Amino acid sequence: MCRHLGWLGEPVSVASLVLDPPCGLRVQSYAPRRQKHGLINADGWGVGFFDAGGQERSDPGMGPEVRRWRSASPLWGDVSFASVAPALRSRCVVAAVRSATAGMPIEASASAPFRDGGWLLSHNGIVDRGVLPVSRVAESTVDSAVLAALIFERGLENLGDTIVEVGTADPGARLNILAANGSRLLATTWGDTLSVLRRADGVVLASEPYDDHPDWQDIPDRHLVEVSGDEVSITPLKGPS
Ligand code: GLN
Repeated sequence: MCRHLGWLGEPVSVASLVLDPPCGLRVQSYAPRRQKHGLINADGWGVGFFDAGGQERSDPGMGPEVRRWRSASPLWGDVSFASVAPALRSRCVVAAVRSATAGMPIEASASAPFRDGGWLLSHNGIVDRGVLPVSRVAESTVDSAVLAALIFERGLENLGDTIVEVGTADPGARLNILAANGSRLLATTWGDTLSVLRRADGVVLASEPYDDHPDWQDIPDRHLVEVSGDEVSITPLKGPS
């Protein structure tokens, strides 16, 4: 089970979200606190973000630029990323560290976030690829990439329905999704942990709290979370019991 984190708010540095917190993704790559499946997340990492500079571009029809940096190596040892991440600033970020499921490829393209146009998506969990009726080509053969391709194909507005459908087809699946498009974060809980932190400057969704701040709230299992502006809505997903 991997770990992921999303941010929506004022521009902040990627390092402040991923590397600096005492129990952030960098530390979670070797010492996660709430991980139920797998001990460490050493099989890669990825950061995707919407370029803050892009929002000030003169071309009004263009949204913020999507940028992505992924690796098949452990996050804790990446000194190049650690050097650059303080200079990367964004209003909207999706980041992940990966513990590969047995039999899955270890390659940068298997690390979240996956991308479709203006959407970035991460998956914590496991799913039988045989139940995913996807027609488009996925970024990697890893189950998470095939699931991402199906979610993109169905449209993010149908995320909840898609997760219930996949969870029904594969009762052993764990389907925690985190997605962002620059102005919204969407997430599901289906088999693993997720917490939310409302800060004065924005909202964090994370597989597990990156510090011990008392404002972190746990999201119950089988829920859909939507963050838009500083509004956070949490609704139950209806599915098989
Ligand atoms: N099944 C996915 C993979 O192999 C995700 C694994 C996870 O959540 N640890 O990458």
